[in-house]
Amino acid sequence: MIDFEDLDNAEGETELSPPELFAANLIEWSLERHASDLFVSDIDGAVLISVRRLGRIEPVRKLARDYGRRLQGHLRVIAGADAGESVRPVEGRGNITTPDGSKAHLRLSSLPTLYGQDVSIRLFDPVRGARPLDQLGMDSVDVESIEHLIDQRSGLILVTGPVASGKSSTLYAMMKRLNDGTRKIHTIEDPIEHALSGVMQSQTNTRLGLGFAELLTVVLRHSPDVIMIGEIRDRQTAETAIRAGASGQLVLATVHSTSTAEAVDMMLQYDSDHQFLANALSGVINQRLVRRLCPVCRKPSSAPHDDGEIPERIRCRMQDAPPSVFDPFGCHLCHEGGYDQLIALPEIMLVDETIEAAIAKRVCATELETICAEDGMLRLAEVAHSYVLRGLTSLDEINRAVTDPHIASMRRRGNKSG
Ligand SMILES: [Zn+2]
Repeated sequence: MIDFEDLDNAEGETELSPPELFAANLIEWSLERHASDLFVSDIDGAVLISVRRLGRIEPVRKLARDYGRRLQGHLRVIAGADAGESVRPVEGRGNITTPDGSKAHLRLSSLPTLYGQDVSIRLFDPVRGARPLDQLGMDSVDVESIEHLIDQRSGLILVTGPVASGKSSTLYAMMKRLNDGTRKIHTIEDPIEHALSGVMQSQTNTRLGLGFAELLTVVLRHSPDVIMIGEIRDRQTAETAIRAGASGQLVLATVHSTSTAEAVDMMLQYDSDHQFLANALSGVINQRLVRRLCPVCRKPSSAPHDDGEIPERIRCRMQDAPPSVFDPFGCHLCHEGGYDQLIALPEIMLVDETIEAAIAKRVCATELETICAEDGMLRLAEVAHSYVLRGLTSLDEINRAVTDPHIASMRRRGNKSG
């Protein structure tokens, strides 16, 4: 196996191996570490390999420029793109079987930059890619809430959160459960990330004028039971999705916002009929991804935590376990990083009569959030707090993912005493 992490060895790569073998080994190495992206980028005087793993960039190795460029060319060949194109951006996609026999789908984009090219590859691991709901890292009570939402025959379910918050993994997990052969399922995606056997998946194509709204109109003529819309970002798609959800179809969609209440607000900006949305909406899942502490090497934190401070709402998530805060350490199992995987952190709004009435009454997002919390919804920050108190993740990690004054002050106290 090639020593990829020899970061400063930019010499002698011609003796390493032919670039095609190096490329296959590099992809295998990246998949083993569950990297989501692989970058082979011209920098000043060399070519830098880096990966995005658990949401963060990690530099891997520098290559001599000539060898690095041959590697870039070979990666473009794997993706079915023009190997020699260096002036215009190129895109491609392809499948690779790595030397150890694992298969991956990759999507490549190559962009001319100051020193040459930036080759960016998205890796789709078919084994880990479309995980079932109970393997996303959510609490079982949250998994049950989502199952309750999708077990209904109709209604609109929104999944929301910023970029890279795991929205599509949650959508795919929901569809995996729905895809049992008893429903006609259509998706409209940009891009299609995983193929789901038996599901009618359509890719948007702006060049042909086939956006989400146009494809949705056609999909509705195909007698769907379930429709998944990759993203609602215009009035026409929003209106059609709401009406489909209110008239007998189950509609799953993502919308860009930072809280469940804000997602409702966002939909109302597209479609001002409060009553219609209140009728159609059955739930909103707002989520973030956080890195899970490696359970093998995490170490107890010196941050003080006062038992008496834990509110009852959070305590019920602890299942009577004593609160224990942990920090990352590092071992061979987590590749010395202290964290081993990304887990979903959800805030789930289940629309009942109280919330339906509030939406129909046009309350503002802040007020809606208060009503939902009083109605039993755990806010994102509260679920985050419970993750920290159970040692699932660290205070630093949560503080990065969730803005909350209580979590920030816990972290400050921890830093002072540590
Ligand atoms: Zn570890």
